[in-house]
Amino acid sequence: QLIVFEGIEGAGKTTQLQRAAAWLRSQVTVPVLTTREPGGTLLGQELRHLLLKVRGEDEIAPRSELLLYASDRAQHVEQYLKPNLAQGAMILCDRYTHSTLAYQGYGRQLDVGLIRQLNAIATGGLQPDLTLWFDLPPEVGLQRIQQRGEPNRLEREALAFHERVRQGYRALAAQDSERMIRLDAEAPPDELEQEIQKILQKSLGQ
Ligand code: C5P
Ligand code: MG
Repeated sequence: QLIVFEGIEGAGKTTQLQRAAAWLRSQVTVPVLTTREPGGTLLGQELRHLLLKVRGEDEIAPRSELLLYASDRAQHVEQYLKPNLAQGAMILCDRYTHSTLAYQGYGRQLDVGLIRQLNAIATGGLQPDLTLWFDLPPEVGLQRIQQRGEPNRLEREALAFHERVRQGYRALAAQDSERMIRLDAEAPPDELEQEIQKILQKSLGQ
């Protein structure tokens, strides 16, 4: 199974992903793996660095950015996701195709239809079994990440950008309510953890 954690900056995806992995390891016998995009492979780590570093006036053009994310994904699918899924692993992945639709499609306003095609190329058709969407207002999320101190060029985007990304996730969830579940990311972490366990329990039973 491939389970994806999605949402805007500071939504708590990474924290909850680690907690969910720890819990799952007590529930199943198959390997439970955690990974992320961008950065789930060695090539991906280099791409992540290129994508996120603050680069002064040398901005990355939107279509160039789109292709770098696609390259990260193609490598991740081939080298990590497909082989591990084939071995029966359960994989929790921090961001996947919905991020590209939300950020480069809705956020940067590139053509969503083209991004879907590009996602299809990058993934070779590999779709998540379940996507958990951590939803919260961008101002809350940005406040949370400003306390982290990791350089990230996305912090320089206007609030309106992050607002569009959030709307993007909302639109995607509306199109795929079966496999994309909204979580209130403003809820206390322990409550969220419990809710996620319930959702995962159900998906294990199927
Ligand atoms: O820590 P995290 O994995 O969320 O960091 C990834 C960064 O890359 C975030 O700032 C996110 O906004 C950005 N990103 C993006 N477009 C994507 C995926 C991630 O701008 N398709
Ligand atoms: Mg994170």
